[in-house]
Amino acid sequence: MQSGAGIFFDGKTSARHDVTVTLGAGSLVISDHAGNVLANWPYDDLMPLAAPDNVLRVGRRGNDVLERLEIFDPTFAHAVDVQAVHIDRTGTIQRHQRGKVIGWTMAATVSLLLTAYFGIPALAQRIAPLLPVAIERKLGDAVDMQMRSMLDTGKTGAAFECGKAESQKAGRAALDKMIRRLEGAAGLPGPLRSTVVRKDDANAFALPGGQIYIFRGLIDKAETADEVAGVVAHEIGHVVHLDGTKAVLQAGGLSFLFGMLLGDFVGGGAVVIATRTVLQSSYSRDAETAADAYAAGLMNKAGGNVRALGTMLARIGGATEPGMKILLDHPETKARVAAIEKFASAKSTTPFLDAKEWAALKRICAG
Ligand SMILES: [Zn+2]
Repeated sequence: MQSGAGIFFDGKTSARHDVTVTLGAGSLVISDHAGNVLANWPYDDLMPLAAPDNVLRVGRRGNDVLERLEIFDPTFAHAVDVQAVHIDRTGTIQRHQRGKVIGWTMAATVSLLLTAYFGIPALAQRIAPLLPVAIERKLGDAVDMQMRSMLDTGKTGAAFECGKAESQKAGRAALDKMIRRLEGAAGLPGPLRSTVVRKDDANAFALPGGQIYIFRGLIDKAETADEVAGVVAHEIGHVVHLDGTKAVLQAGGLSFLFGMLLGDFVGGGAVVIATRTVLQSSYSRDAETAADAYAAGLMNKAGGNVRALGTMLARIGGATEPGMKILLDHPETKARVAAIEKFASAKSTTPFLDAKEWAALKRICAG
């Protein structure tokens, strides 16, 4: 059944609205009888609420307006139930909630025991490799919102992200082409997501789950597309090695560990702390060396120029991520560049972008 009747409370008034609920491609569409859409809830956001046995009552996750929807027809309620990943598919809502409480209690106990035994840093190291991709992505999403508002210090809002405006579309297409080529060579479990932001530092960084931020400053400083690709490959290395995931788990501490076990990230304070840590701290030298080695291997696999990463690192003093110290002409940077050069193959390489595409990428934040 693709649609059915429901009762909708908008959370602002106490009025009950008789509505038609339609199961859309990715969301639940709630409309009045005149066809006006009152609400559109992505299935991922649906949250079961306590209700009597014969009613399916759902709300929307993270919604402070307290809208809710009630469905009485059991057949249609079941159809909604099946679409909503967060709603218990087999049992009643009561059982779901009871299970949740038990889950939280167990998670809390297990986390406390593990933390007492290993300490948070070691625990983060051990748990990160066990995370399913979907949970890792959720962890990244929880940090991502906060990340955007922390990065956007000038409060420019939508304009903060480059590649959205009509005149920047060609630049965005060029970046997508570059990333698809790296992604194809890397054989990752899920697609990467990338965002170019108006920040002047020559930085990039990766969030858990594969969201990569590229600062405009990095594209400005790069002289070839392969130099940008090299740094993106280095960030993919951090994604594959779970460096961001470990850092976020470590900084977010217990709240994240609980949330992770239940697939539900709560605790705004933990998100803020974790985000700040990711932005301000740097990975260990070993993690950087490993990401460089991964990047060099990936550039080779993708048929790109490995040396371009070394050239770029030398130019930006090795500080690929925001928390790193710029070490221009420093022995550490020189050692990294030398280590990368060792990977350079004698085979001929194909530039990631042609001249026209590269020019478009250079202008991804213009206009
Ligand atoms: Zn790095």
